[in-house]
Amino acid sequence: MAEDRLACRECHHVNDPDSQTCEHCGSSSLTEDWAGYVIITQPEESQIAEEMNVTKAGSYALKVR
Ligand SMILES: [Zn+2]
Repeated sequence: MAEDRLACRECHHVNDPDSQTCEHCGSSSLTEDWAGYVIITQPEESQIAEEMNVTKAGSYALKVR
């Protein structure tokens, strides 16, 4: 379930529901329309992080529409 948290279209970071901008990259391009929740704790050792171009630990959406 996506609940009503907001995923960033730029970096895929999942933000709190009342966010106006992404806390990671500052983008205001946030959407409720996302799927697949992944928590990355060690980006440098994560193949998923590499594929998603994630360099910071955090929670991310696999798919953002
Ligand atoms: Zn972002």
